[in-house]
Amino acid sequence: MYFRYAKRLLTETDLRLLWKLAWNFGFKGMRAIGKHKRRLARGEFFPPFLYLSIINSCNLRCQGCWVDVAAKQEKIEIDALSRVIREANAQGNYFFGIVGGEPFMHGEILEIFRRHPDCYFQVFTNGHFITDDIAAQLRQCGNVTPLISVEGNEIISDQRRGGQSVLNHTMEGLRRCVENRVVTGVCTSVCKTNLEDLVCESWVDRLIELGVLYMWYHIYRPMGPDAAPELALSPEEQTRIRRFVVEMRVCKPIGIIDAYYDHDGQALCPAATGFTHHVSPWGDIEPCPIIQFAKESIYDKRALADVFNNSEYLRDFRDLAASTTRGCIVLERPDLLHELNVLHEARDTTARQSATRELCALVPRPSQASMAEPIPEKSWAYRFAKRHFFNDFGAYDAPRNPLQPSEVDG
Ligand code: SF4
Repeated sequence: MYFRYAKRLLTETDLRLLWKLAWNFGFKGMRAIGKHKRRLARGEFFPPFLYLSIINSCNLRCQGCWVDVAAKQEKIEIDALSRVIREANAQGNYFFGIVGGEPFMHGEILEIFRRHPDCYFQVFTNGHFITDDIAAQLRQCGNVTPLISVEGNEIISDQRRGGQSVLNHTMEGLRRCVENRVVTGVCTSVCKTNLEDLVCESWVDRLIELGVLYMWYHIYRPMGPDAAPELALSPEEQTRIRRFVVEMRVCKPIGIIDAYYDHDGQALCPAATGFTHHVSPWGDIEPCPIIQFAKESIYDKRALADVFNNSEYLRDFRDLAASTTRGCIVLERPDLLHELNVLHEARDTTARQSATRELCALVPRPSQASMAEPIPEKSWAYRFAKRHFFNDFGAYDAPRNPLQPSEVDG
């Protein structure tokens, strides 16, 4: 399988793009994690990866979406983005997740990639705004991979995403990226209505046929004003997805990402481990995209390194999440997260100003940690990569609980 995948990478994309992927993402990504580990050992903190929501607007209205897509447009301007990127570069970070809303609705998105040729960008997009010209420019930039979201068959896609012919438009964008030999991925937020269609071998084979080079299964989070909790998955369904991913990784020539398990199959939360944090379209620095509460902003008159290193809210979030579960604290214990927000007087960062009400209305439910037994990686390549570059960085080794002040805290 590894040779078949290597052959796909060497023959289906542009070698210059492959070099950018290997160097800007691969090599610099490993180096960023090394720096992160050394910072942690010194008692310092700066996340090795950042998710940047560059705009809130979107042409779709997805079930479970937490973003204020219908609110007045807010976007992070190019100079502010460049400052954040350069300050992160100074900490050794060169990889950024670009999210929204729909990032390609940001008029200067291509300029971000051009201004930072030494970085690598993964853009979470519905693909609807990727014209042939945009795809050609993505190839020119070479340092960007579109991760295109597919949420079901034609009918389910329209239902899930609140639009017409949603899947057709998405597949058009995908086709243009592949035809322009751009490193292209497909992601799905797996829920009750797309599990059967998209967590199966035939879908993986279809993506390989289409020229998709990697894929990512997220677990549906029933968030936002239209949470649709009936779509959330049971522990058995989450276990089925984990088992499926582990099996596909040893037999299919396509990369399969996940951000929920280490090499032994132990669950983890990438925000609790400090692997990543999120910046909202308003510049708020949040624990993760679905936790719309913050104390700091990229517009604070302080260096970003100082903000991350001294954020008591983010530190306490990491400790609380790690001391509560190896899974998702938002799903499993939203009540504790609310207590933390009250303790820190963290502000509701939404335009709709209803994140607190939504959080308090959440019913605790199982997350990636609800598996009876961990399912370890079978693939030696994923075992190696996760063992060294994607694990819990010791976050679950006796974490303190900030809601239960110990004798030490007095
Ligand atoms: S809190 Fe939940 S949604 Fe956020 S990063 Fe952790 S597991 Fe993911």
